Amino acid sequence: MLVVMSVGATDEEVQTVRDHIEGDGLTPHESRGEQRVIIGVVGDVGPRKEQVMNHLAVLPGVESVTPISKPFKLTSRDFRQEDTVIRVGETTIGGGSLTVMAGPCAIESRDQMLTTADAVAAAGATILRGGAFKPRTSPYSFQGLGMDGVRFLTEARERTGLPVVTEVMEPNQVQPVALHADILQIGARNMQNFPLLMAAGKVQRPIMLKRGISATVEEWLMAAEYIVSSGNPEVILCERGIRTFETYTRNTLDLAAVPLLHHLTHLPVIVDPSHATGKRWLVRPMAVAAVAAGADGIMVEVHPNPDDALSDGEQSLTLDQFSAMAPVLRTVHGQVRGLPTG
Ligand code: PEP
Ligand code: MN
Repeated sequence: MLVVMSVGATDEEVQTVRDHIEGDGLTPHESRGEQRVIIGVVGDVGPRKEQVMNHLAVLPGVESVTPISKPFKLTSRDFRQEDTVIRVGETTIGGGSLTVMAGPCAIESRDQMLTTADAVAAAGATILRGGAFKPRTSPYSFQGLGMDGVRFLTEARERTGLPVVTEVMEPNQVQPVALHADILQIGARNMQNFPLLMAAGKVQRPIMLKRGISATVEEWLMAAEYIVSSGNPEVILCERGIRTFETYTRNTLDLAAVPLLHHLTHLPVIVDPSHATGKRWLVRPMAVAAVAAGADGIMVEVHPNPDDALSDGEQSLTLDQFSAMAPVLRTVHGQVRGLPTG
């Protein structure tokens, strides 16, 4: 349920409401908007719901108490009307800016990572990506360089000044990788790895949560809800295509999910046209379309020599292709920003 405080409610009144919620064995989550404070109440209230609502409704400073009909609560627009804006280093994600994440699928060597980083930074990327722990479909495929890869990625950050994002696959990796990376990625295959989601909720790093291969939007938002309700409000959603009957593309890019998510949630939405299409020549048109659809940014795979890549070469842009694409995205973003999305 949502406790909407009246405009001008005092901090003491907010605190009293929080105390009552905790007294009922539930957890308060506060959202401070420009106008007023909204307190999301989560927990298993069961048949006491009406009683708890009536009890909170009469406290001083409370304007209304309403049930949240959607299963996702803290991630919903009902809880927070303003876009969540995530600050990472010098850059912000969400709230009208354009985020461009770029880098290799897998970090293969120091030279490959640094060469890619220098090129994408010069071309205007705002965040560097690189996979160190790789979730590969085949156990015989390159599995990533692990913590050595993370070190090359952080070296790339020192050189370029850009924040870095890398994937974690199991709860034990969350803390050690969070010491080095600015953003942690949870990949499509792990979208419903609940222990991983809860571990990601315990670190002070933004989490980029990719959509599961066959996940509905609601399942995806419920996965985000795990992270937020575990204590980490900084979640970025990444649409990366879903599996359908179509086989020409690696996945089917669900671009309607972008405005849909902006309607349902305050969290920023990024689109990954590389994994969504699986084909290098489809990446640019879909990246442009994603920005036109209102995405807060894109994430693309880039490799100095895609034909020799150890992972996802067919969908990786060359350095030149990325440099040619980046200004187009900025132009499209300039055209569509501020336009109504619904
Ligand atoms: C990746 O970003 O390299 C990756 C493995 O993506 P996904 O989880 O979307 O397949
Ligand atoms: Mn990849």
